[in-house]
Amino acid sequence: MVRQGTQPLNDYLRIFEALNDAVERLGKVSDSPRLDAELLLACALEVQRSYLFAHPEDEIDPAAAIRFESALKNRINGMPMAYIAGEKEFWSMPLIVSPATLIPRPDTELLVEQVLIRIPQRAEWKIADLGTGSGAIALAIAKERRLCHVTATDISEDALSVACENAQLLALPNIEFSAGDWTTPIAGSVFDLVVSNPPYVATKDPHLAALQFEPTLALDAGKDGLDAIRRLAESVPDILRPGGSLLLEHGFEQAPIVSDILRRSGWCNIALINDLEGRPRVTAANRSRDRYTSYSS
Ligand code: GLN
Repeated sequence: MVRQGTQPLNDYLRIFEALNDAVERLGKVSDSPRLDAELLLACALEVQRSYLFAHPEDEIDPAAAIRFESALKNRINGMPMAYIAGEKEFWSMPLIVSPATLIPRPDTELLVEQVLIRIPQRAEWKIADLGTGSGAIALAIAKERRLCHVTATDISEDALSVACENAQLLALPNIEFSAGDWTTPIAGSVFDLVVSNPPYVATKDPHLAALQFEPTLALDAGKDGLDAIRRLAESVPDILRPGGSLLLEHGFEQAPIVSDILRRSGWCNIALINDLEGRPRVTAANRSRDRYTSYSS
């Protein structure tokens, strides 16, 4: 709520004053202090951001001021904007996120794009997204390919409940969720395509410290950051039809080793896909038509 009116209410902060004060405090921790301050204040006041520009002199009521201060403190302590707002846009969809889920990255849209290239428009395929988190990848696919059925798994029940809520808010009926470790909850099913953005950061990678608010489970993949990818390379053939595709996101420096892992596990047609900056961030491969021939060749 915003207090409007002309009488002077000097005990309350005005919008422009609150913003200026917040920008100064956020300058020490954020690359975009003004934008952050505006988004946080708009959220605390439950108004659109544009309202702030149209009503800079409005005074902020005490309840909103308390909400704003608490959000500001979280941001100053390094909490990502997405967790404070509880929302992040991915593939033009507003998604709920919580600290139980990784914040969807724009980078991951490359993975979605590459999946969609491989699914014909009218295909009625069964697709699996392993380690779905907020459901970003699975929901984007379900949205773009309404005739396909997407199954999304995650070991974290808290993450899956966020993904499930997102599916309901987006009114996507062609998606289901299954709790468990990688392929375990869907053992016995056969899919046409499997996709995953698994954890791929090495335990001692200094980059992990900067991601302290995000779930370690979704990021840390052991000593060399490849534990999850090795696990997927071994287990996905059990749930994929012969000739079916697997697409994985990984760090750009991991591309050669990811190819090697897939080759050793009998995958064929291994292809690296570069992002817009020319860095290989996605690898695609096909399940051999005869896994066992390929293993021995
Ligand atoms: N791209 C993320 C990062 O390094 C890592 C995501 C992941 O491990 N799947 O910030």
